[in-house]
Amino acid sequence: MKVLIVGGGGREHALAWKCAQSARVQHVFVAPGNAGTAREPKLSNVEIAADDIEALLEFASTENVGLTVVGPEGPLVAGIVDRFAEAGRACFGPSRAAACLEGSKSFTKDFLQRHRIPTAAYATFTAANFDPRFIRAQPLPLVVKADGLAAGKGVVICDTHESAIATASGMLAGSFGAAGNTVVIEQFLRGEEVSFIVVASGDQVVPLATSQDHKRRDDGDQGPNTGGMGAYSPAPVVTPALHARIMREVIEPTLRGLRRDGIPYTGFLYAGLMIAEDGTPNVLEFNCRFGDPEAQPILMRLESDLVALCEAALEGSLDRIGVRWDSRAALGVVMAAGGYPENYCTGDAITGLDAAAHLPGKVFHAGTRASGSQILTAGGRVLCAVGLGTTVGAAQRVAYDLVHAIHWNRVQYRRDIGHRAITRERETT
Ligand code: AMP
Repeated sequence: MKVLIVGGGGREHALAWKCAQSARVQHVFVAPGNAGTAREPKLSNVEIAADDIEALLEFASTENVGLTVVGPEGPLVAGIVDRFAEAGRACFGPSRAAACLEGSKSFTKDFLQRHRIPTAAYATFTAANFDPRFIRAQPLPLVVKADGLAAGKGVVICDTHESAIATASGMLAGSFGAAGNTVVIEQFLRGEEVSFIVVASGDQVVPLATSQDHKRRDDGDQGPNTGGMGAYSPAPVVTPALHARIMREVIEPTLRGLRRDGIPYTGFLYAGLMIAEDGTPNVLEFNCRFGDPEAQPILMRLESDLVALCEAALEGSLDRIGVRWDSRAALGVVMAAGGYPENYCTGDAITGLDAAAHLPGKVFHAGTRASGSQILTAGGRVLCAVGLGTTVGAAQRVAYDLVHAIHWNRVQYRRDIGHRAITRERETT
């Protein structure tokens, strides 16, 4: 069988690499892919953009692709799964209506409230009914969110009423394009942030191994927010008791609620949660796809066949599938271009990839492109070096050995990925 992976980042490299390990898979195409997916056995890149749904469908039909797996949220929110279904092609991911869980924050907040799933108190406004007096009456800080997809930049934490009013007014005036036509104003929550990712199919659900990512650019969780500078799995913060609570209070009622609302969910579902001091798992956001960089360490630990897992979800037989995990921990360090996440450099030659290929662990590519025999940087997040080890600490050493073998001009990476888990490991030994 042939598989098509839609996207070109580190998550998609990991998805494609994992699908290629299935004995049933003859070839994996990646659209558009990167220099890493171009080099991988059984993989090849296809020059089609991830959001060109018609061209992707035509390619899948011509090549008789048996399974398409969509990496990024853009094509899901735009309805790629519905379009493939109309043409009778298997495409793993939520429908356009179900992808609203990521595509519209006001939809999600209303959904959570209606189904009594824990989340921060909120109000939504459009330009027609925006009332600064509401903001002035709220306790600080306040979180102002653009309703639609804003490439991870549509959330602003405001310490003063004036900045919250200015941020909301700016969004409503078009600073985020149509994504800001509606804004959500939300109470600020304290606690520890946890991500929880499952494979879902209607009411059936298989939780993936737990993970935690690092969103801030600099060591000690400082500096600007990014798409993610590293992640590890398992996340010891998700104790068995917390795991059970998240399933019972968030994942199960969400899937049940969506089904009852007539929009059953199939695909990866990513819940971003803030765990309050009393253990309440408050939903900050849902993503309708796998996390990046969480996918890289999680898929390094997946021993089961990913293609079989996606097919079981599409067929509604997830409840009959068992998933096996490598008992070791995995930890991924993102290597980013100088200047990321703002204006970053591209076109720098990357050295050391061949040496790294002989070391334990795995380097997944994200923003890379080939130019002759060289591999050049071509995005903000360039590589993700993943190590496996008996503890998170041991996996961290393997990952940083890979990082230290690789270099380019103005490369930047955090030196403390996994620090919370490693502190917990030290405390318990
Ligand atoms: P979101 O895209 O909604 O997850 O927001 C991005 C980031 O903003 C989250 O990962 C949190 O770190 C932070 N955030 C969002 N909403 C809240 C909130 N209500 N309270 C505290 N932090 C938040």
